[in-house]
Amino acid sequence: MSDSYSLYSPDLPNDYCGRFAPSPSGHLHLGSLFTAYAAYWRSLEQQGTFLIRIEDLDFPRCPRQNIPLLCQELQLFGLHSDKKVRVQSEHLGEYQQAIQTLLSNDFAYFCTCTRAQSKEQPCTCWMANKQARIREKLARDPDTPHSCKVNITPYLESEELQSFTDVNLGEVKQSDLEHPLNPYLTLERADGIIAYNLAVVIDDIEQEITEVVRGADMLDATFLQLPLYELDSCEPPVFCHIPLITDSSGRKLSKQNHAPAVFADYTPRTSTLLCLQLLQESVYHELLQQEDVVTLLQDLEQCEASLTALITAEVSTQLQKKLQAQLRKLSPKEKDEALALLTPTGLTNMLLLVATQAQQAELVAQREDDDFLSDYDDDDEWADEDEDEDDDGVRENWPRAYYEGIATGTYGPWSKLLALWSTALGETSWQQAQELTATYYELLTRLHTEVIGPHFQVHALPKKPIVL
Ligand code: GLU
Repeated sequence: MSDSYSLYSPDLPNDYCGRFAPSPSGHLHLGSLFTAYAAYWRSLEQQGTFLIRIEDLDFPRCPRQNIPLLCQELQLFGLHSDKKVRVQSEHLGEYQQAIQTLLSNDFAYFCTCTRAQSKEQPCTCWMANKQARIREKLARDPDTPHSCKVNITPYLESEELQSFTDVNLGEVKQSDLEHPLNPYLTLERADGIIAYNLAVVIDDIEQEITEVVRGADMLDATFLQLPLYELDSCEPPVFCHIPLITDSSGRKLSKQNHAPAVFADYTPRTSTLLCLQLLQESVYHELLQQEDVVTLLQDLEQCEASLTALITAEVSTQLQKKLQAQLRKLSPKEKDEALALLTPTGLTNMLLLVATQAQQAELVAQREDDDFLSDYDDDDEWADEDEDEDDDGVRENWPRAYYEGIATGTYGPWSKLLALWSTALGETSWQQAQELTATYYELLTRLHTEVIGPHFQVHALPKKPIVL
């Protein structure tokens, strides 16, 4: 496949920067993996940078322990960030600063409407006389429940914002949206949670994202975010919305709709191929006719089969028993969720994860450094034992949580899992598993970077929802 590289000059100045920005509300499902691969392949095709950002500001929906688990799953499926993963909850000060600036410029305003009021009536808190009263009240009693909003009516009504040009969908008109947009855009909720639209714009500016590849369910959000770029006097990135994957009744695959975790049903090889087929049907067929690609896929499949063969019926029974014992302390719902992952494919994936982790642990040990995140980024405050606590003193020990985290956080720490797998497999098979895993990821990386990336065609993306 090296020929395909001749199309691209390695010296080409390239500042393309794409990203995938999942919310850690649960396991990865096919819908999010589909978007992640689209963004990743597009950045490979552009020979640009690919970043992963964790959007965890909705704390009740995104428990902190999910973050390392999500990072592990992304790693399992072959997705790595070219730079340090940005976690939104680590940047609250930046969002607050932006809100302060918008407040002092009189763009943002305090709003004391209840949720019900906000739904029923257009918000009038932004009007000067009302705003003066609210500010006075807040000065006397800062505990009065209030949110912070910005009125973007003039932007939404402006000529320029009647439509924008999407890389995949072409001209998208505001009037084509299903519901009218609410111009009283929340920046910070009454419960103190920073709103998604504000954070995402600040992050995309901060991370110098040049193109946002994301699901078509974000079209409304794009219209709401564009005014924020104007308010910040910044050039917005280019947008490329890809179709959603829906179930047979047309509902988007999502955690709320109980979309199954890819972990249980797809290995990294099968998920890559399925997403390629769904996203790039013609490219998929074309590539499968090339001998070297077929060989690469066969090698990958063979490697996966050998890995799976190590999990004999006996090993599987032993593991299932021990893993289930680890789930005792969970609530019935969590237990069901965790058990749903223990399919034969789930076990292969877990072995891939555990074996990768074992290799990383070995690397760490070789460097006589038991904290591999400190190598990951020297400035990383997670890596500093002394800074483990946040303002409220509740911050977890992140490097360890990351290091020890596994698919659900329920299987126990990594060290336990490693011991469990290595005991169940026995020394020879455990050694083999690690070798096979290393080869597997070498082949998978080649599939992404040498085969799919350079052949990715943005104009050949589907435009309509994909029914699974
Ligand atoms: N965090 C959002 C989600 O998981 C994606 C937002 C974006 O890509 O801008 O749906």
